[in-house]
Amino acid sequence: MSQPLSSIPVSQLKGVGPSLAEKLKGFGLSSYEDLLFHLPNRYQDRTRIHPIGSLSPGMDVVIEAEVVLADVVTRRRRSLLCKVRDGSGFMTLRFFHFSGAQKSQMTPGAKLRCYGSVRPGPNGLEMVHPEYQVVAEYKAKAVEQHLTPIYPLTEGIQQPRMRSFCEQALKRLNPYSILDYLPAELLQHWGLPTLHDSLRLLHAPMPDVDQTEIQEGLHPSQRRLAFEELLAQHLSLLRLRHKTQKDQARVLMIDRERETQFMAQLGFQLTGAQARVISEIGADLSLGHPMLRLVQGDVGSGKTAVAALAMLYAISSGQQAAIMAPTEILAEQHFQQFCEWFEPLGLKVGWLAGKVKGKKREKILAELAGGEIDIMVGTHALFQPDVIFDRLALVVIDEQHRFGVDQRMALRDKGMVADEVSGVRPHQLIMTATPIPRTLAMAAYADLDVSVIDELPPGRTPVETVAISDQRRDQVIERLRQSCAEGRQAYWVCTLIEENEEMDAQAAQDATTLLQSNLPGINVALVHGKMKAKEKADVMAGFKRGDIQVLVATTVIEVGVNVPNASVMVIENPERLGLAQLHQLRGRVGRGATESFCVLLYHAPLSKFGKARLQVMRETSDGFVIAEKDLEIRGPGEVMGTRQTGLVSMRVADLLRDKDMLGDVKQAADWIIRHAPDRVDLLIRRWLGYGERYAEV
Ligand code: ADP
Ligand code: MG
Repeated sequence: MSQPLSSIPVSQLKGVGPSLAEKLKGFGLSSYEDLLFHLPNRYQDRTRIHPIGSLSPGMDVVIEAEVVLADVVTRRRRSLLCKVRDGSGFMTLRFFHFSGAQKSQMTPGAKLRCYGSVRPGPNGLEMVHPEYQVVAEYKAKAVEQHLTPIYPLTEGIQQPRMRSFCEQALKRLNPYSILDYLPAELLQHWGLPTLHDSLRLLHAPMPDVDQTEIQEGLHPSQRRLAFEELLAQHLSLLRLRHKTQKDQARVLMIDRERETQFMAQLGFQLTGAQARVISEIGADLSLGHPMLRLVQGDVGSGKTAVAALAMLYAISSGQQAAIMAPTEILAEQHFQQFCEWFEPLGLKVGWLAGKVKGKKREKILAELAGGEIDIMVGTHALFQPDVIFDRLALVVIDEQHRFGVDQRMALRDKGMVADEVSGVRPHQLIMTATPIPRTLAMAAYADLDVSVIDELPPGRTPVETVAISDQRRDQVIERLRQSCAEGRQAYWVCTLIEENEEMDAQAAQDATTLLQSNLPGINVALVHGKMKAKEKADVMAGFKRGDIQVLVATTVIEVGVNVPNASVMVIENPERLGLAQLHQLRGRVGRGATESFCVLLYHAPLSKFGKARLQVMRETSDGFVIAEKDLEIRGPGEVMGTRQTGLVSMRVADLLRDKDMLGDVKQAADWIIRHAPDRVDLLIRRWLGYGERYAEV
């Protein structure tokens, strides 16, 4: 039997002492097995010598040629130029840094073997700083037998060393030293190569491999590993979900009389989509196991009303409900909204943020623990250890994409201790306005049930979006003046300059001053993240009442703010923001019946991606389309909402590239759970490690 490679530490590698072993460990490479899962991100082909006559710019190749002449030239930049030829043509080698010894090696007639990129030069093709060696005419060194892997590196470990480590590990690879956890039936069904073959091929591909395929990560061996990794991720999420489903939660039923009362004062009819989502929620709540449901609904689709109705289930059943919002402004707004909706029903709404301190805090905490408060609204301050509920049965998390995974997990923990005595856990409703592309939603949220509000309330007019260079700022301000004269209200958003709130606040302050001096008689006010909660609330209230016509803001208003009369949105430097964020911001307008405008006040010149994003914004207002485009333009690592899922830190898989496999992965996961349950743990551990994020929850 071979020793499993997972149990051979990297310290056993030739050329690795304790300090290097530590360094490798820090890079996630502790064992021989880890090295074998450390795959090259590209390859060089040094297996063939190319005739110069067959080269074209852009090729990375080995040539073997004879020096015709070498000379140091000083035109523009001092460099060593070496003209070489083989039987098929001439080319130039160009060196900017070189030693005297190097120059003297290049005597006419010397034979060189070079590896480098071919590019056009002033006198035909050339290679700049090729790797080269002088070869003796009749005993030329053999070329490489397989493609040369180029590995991801960490500081202090150079490519040749990493290559040697992986080679050493590869020598120990056999079907017994690393077990294939994918059952043979499954491999056969999906036409996947074995783990052993895949690893061997990827560390040392033979020259006849499809090189385009392997460079793009589409080789069957790469696909197999990506498949296994996605499968492990999926199984881990399913396991979490399974654990949750075994837990107990209160059965919640709505009181029809209360519901009627509530609907009567809501002032609008639910859209079909809202009604459908509420009935899905209602079904979950009646089951006695904790609901874990994600509601995706575009900006303005009416998620708040859905949350309120879900809460009514909890309250009707004599329980408490809580809603957590990512910003104070939003929490404050929910508080007002819920007071308006619930107080007439004789219910008590409480409010808590980090800034509520002292006597006020004590009082609210006492009311909460004493059970006087039915509905609790707040920021993440709600989930501090001293906040104790009397009978919490439902937690709503609004705009979850603004919370990291850690916070989401902390909430689950909080949920666990909500009722220590009985072990009963609260239901959870998670709401997000950042649509995750459908292709990814399944992968990102396999641990949740998903509902989609795919309909906007009636009477909305689409927002007309224009992109204007900031050189025409004066014209935009003039149009803003006219709009205000027509009774409109506007947002003027200053985007993040850098990760520095101080400077952001300053930029917003400058914009406010500029607008105030250019818009006499118009009330311009400022809101930003550094302001005191009370100041922020006052400004927001003034804007809501219509006393303030132009609200200058940093991106703090991005999520959730609802002022239906605001119909103009100016976004400065929109090129700095991602599509999801732009979509969120634009969603602040177009909420009333009046025609709305969004001005993207960009700073030229735009990058290719910047241009593409603004173009998408002008073309569509559908959040799902935007999310898909976002994914195309930026790749999944950057798409809002997926960043926090943990799926982006994958080793082999790439959600964008491999999304076509997600459906198969799901089926394979079901199959494994049914037919090879012993593999579940092994797979999760191999790919997610013992530090599996969800293991403890
Ligand atoms: P979001 O989904 O972005 O959180 P909100 O819940 O803030 O959206 O709702 C946006 C606006 O639409 C609010 O003014 C809300 O009162 C209104 N609204 C919600 N549902 C309906 C509906 N069915 N008919 C008309 N207006 C609605
Ligand atoms: Mg909202």
